[in-house]
Amino acid sequence: MAKIIEAMKAGIKAVADSREPGEYSAGGAKIICPHCENTMFKLHGPFNLQQWGDFPTYIEATLTCLKCGLIQWLGKRPTRL
Ligand SMILES: [Zn+2]
Repeated sequence: MAKIIEAMKAGIKAVADSREPGEYSAGGAKIICPHCENTMFKLHGPFNLQQWGDFPTYIEATLTCLKCGLIQWLGKRPTRL
């Protein structure tokens, strides 16, 4: 039972850590803010946007630039560096 609780704690911590600000890559390239060239982002998502008609209905993640606030939308989850 103790191993299950420890595994659950580790899983919760991993999810919490993934939500902390950090640097990310996508498609093998480091993500850089196109507006201010910052590399630190806050990860959000996924979002299901089915009510938006023909617009992409599922956003896997967004990255909010911690310097200027620009939000980038991604169809695949970025990799935390
Ligand atoms: Zn920025």
